Amino acid sequence: MSFAKIHLFFKKVIGNNTYFHIFVHQKHIKNRKTMKLDGRRLSTNVEDRRGKGGVKAGGLGLGGIIIVGLIWLLTGKAPDTSTLQQMTQGIGTEYAQEQDYSEVDVELMQFCKQILAGTEDVWNAEFKKMGMTYQPPKMVIFAGAVSSGCGNASSDSGPFYCSADQTVYLDLEFFKSMKSQIGADGDFAYAYVIAHEVGHHVQYLLGTLDAAHQQMAEYGKGTKGYNQTSVRLELQADFYAGVWAYHDNQMFGSLEDGDIEEALDAAAKIGDDYLQKQAYGKTMPETFNHGTSEQRARWLKKGLRTGDMSQGDTFSPNYNSL
Ligand SMILES: [Zn+2]
Repeated sequence: MSFAKIHLFFKKVIGNNTYFHIFVHQKHIKNRKTMKLDGRRLSTNVEDRRGKGGVKAGGLGLGGIIIVGLIWLLTGKAPDTSTLQQMTQGIGTEYAQEQDYSEVDVELMQFCKQILAGTEDVWNAEFKKMGMTYQPPKMVIFAGAVSSGCGNASSDSGPFYCSADQTVYLDLEFFKSMKSQIGADGDFAYAYVIAHEVGHHVQYLLGTLDAAHQQMAEYGKGTKGYNQTSVRLELQADFYAGVWAYHDNQMFGSLEDGDIEEALDAAAKIGDDYLQKQAYGKTMPETFNHGTSEQRARWLKKGLRTGDMSQGDTFSPNYNSL
């Protein structure tokens, strides 16, 4: 019996799910450091839009054809296009929900819901301290492309926050590419990505985001002032991600040894200088709009160490001392 056949045999005997758990899942988590998330609640603010508009949503399917036939039979006329479109959409969504996502994707989806729930709990408490009420953002999980309140976006642009609809948009593939393209892996690194986007939402609620965007519009895209304001915004979102992690750990004891290094490593690997060096073999500091590796790791760490919102002013300091 070949190795592959043995595995097939096992699959048959113990069932697909168990097989996957033992042979694939274990291999997957072996080289991952894990946050402690057992039993954590799932956010109800996550919308799964992977099926809609995706490849799998197309076509009426057998069920659809039968329904069209039924309407035709009962009413004597073919359903109009809008009814058909609605049906196709409905059926498409159903298909998407029923289809089997990989174990990794199911796990990542659950992870996103848990981390988002953690940000809700932490920011609820932090806003209360400031005498304010936290309105949590929505999160849309999409695959390939998505239309947002800020226009259409593809996965290439990475996760983003749109203040027009107060939603964080994320393609799960991004986490996988973080691992393969920049070598940043581990679930705390992934949590940092989510917490950074939620950090932009916090900026939005505090009025910082709009003020900065207005300033950037006055400077004009591509100018030094524009890019520097963008860096200040991004570093503050990193700081807020750190503040979240500090309090999440206080509330739930979520961090384990190595988690912090993992996130700092991820922050360093999405610094402008690091990415430009990788892409062009040199750095162009005047075009930086997210901050250097050193800056991003420093602000994240500052949030993580202090957990203190009042230490996160990235707008007043001299640009060169950020
Ligand atoms: Zn950002």
